Amino acid sequence: MLDLVIIGAGPAGLTAAIYAARAQMNAVIIENHIAGGQIATTGAVDNYPGMPGVQGLVMAEQFRTHAEQMGAHFQRGQVTGIENSGTVKKILLADGEPLTTKAVIAATGAVPRSLGMPGEEALRGNGVSYCAMCDGAFFYGKRVCVVGGGDTAVEDAFSLSRQASEVILIHRRDSLRAQKAHAARVLGIPNVSARWNAVVTEILSEGGRVSGVRVQDVKNHKEEILPVDGVFIAVGMAPETGFLRPLGIVDEYGYVQAGEDCRTAVPGLFAAGDLRRKAVRQIVTAAADGASAIRSVQAYLELLEI
Ligand code: NAP
Repeated sequence: MLDLVIIGAGPAGLTAAIYAARAQMNAVIIENHIAGGQIATTGAVDNYPGMPGVQGLVMAEQFRTHAEQMGAHFQRGQVTGIENSGTVKKILLADGEPLTTKAVIAATGAVPRSLGMPGEEALRGNGVSYCAMCDGAFFYGKRVCVVGGGDTAVEDAFSLSRQASEVILIHRRDSLRAQKAHAARVLGIPNVSARWNAVVTEILSEGGRVSGVRVQDVKNHKEEILPVDGVFIAVGMAPETGFLRPLGIVDEYGYVQAGEDCRTAVPGLFAAGDLRRKAVRQIVTAAADGASAIRSVQAYLELLEI
């Protein structure tokens, strides 16, 4: 039986794999498509210490190579469920024999929801972003828009207002869903304006970079082009936690309820990275979770031996 199965090979899972290898655990890390998670499809990453401007895919490969060099064991597969019988956990795979293990770290992450509009996918990383904290610094003195009306959109507009020359909040209703005080504060900032009752129907480009958005008024259906250099999409996140739902540890938004020590309410099951309910979702915080989770796994395995 394995000591540990780590599900997901993003920054949290790969960091956990490095720490597990160093702790000489009998562990397997399951990767679905390619290693790296969200970073593998990210353009330049400018906020991870020691790697300024690194391309996301390069960073993902470096993380994976590091884990491999430390002795991490990778297995390809898609986890469909976890059967929990107390001290033994069975990891069910779409293809292949189940794995039995003493402990599990779920590190499958969360993906930002997309708008599904023309231009969005092609311009991802070239003006289309899903993370103001990650990419805002690329838009100093530029004109940007934020799509969405929740707390994330408001926080994004707030932080971008300090970097961009102008921020246009585009929302499909005439008021924000975000907390009232935050919403009022952001709308009072001189370089932030709102385009109400409007949806983005197309993201436009020039020379391979975003040049504007086509917006449609949802009431009178009139279209208009807003010239912008960046489009920040903040229409919610989708945590990859479907396989954890039967265990009762997932909240109403799909996030796993686990504290800073990454322990869930199920003994022996830990959650690390963006799928965990937390305030800051960054590569550096996901990696930190990977380390914290291993410390908790170690304590759990020691208890099993008593
Ligand atoms: P959210 O609250 O689900 O808001 C998503 C927003 O995107 C909504 O305004 C929604 O419009 C809009 N939207 C969804 N699909 C769209 C589409 N296809 N086209 C245009 N607009 C679309 O997501 P969130 O802002 O990421 O927040 C998620 C959770 O985290 C919330 O509970 C939030 O309170 C919490 N959060 C808290 C903080 C904080 O407390 N500091 C910060 C960030 C997030 P409608 O309003 O019309 O549905």
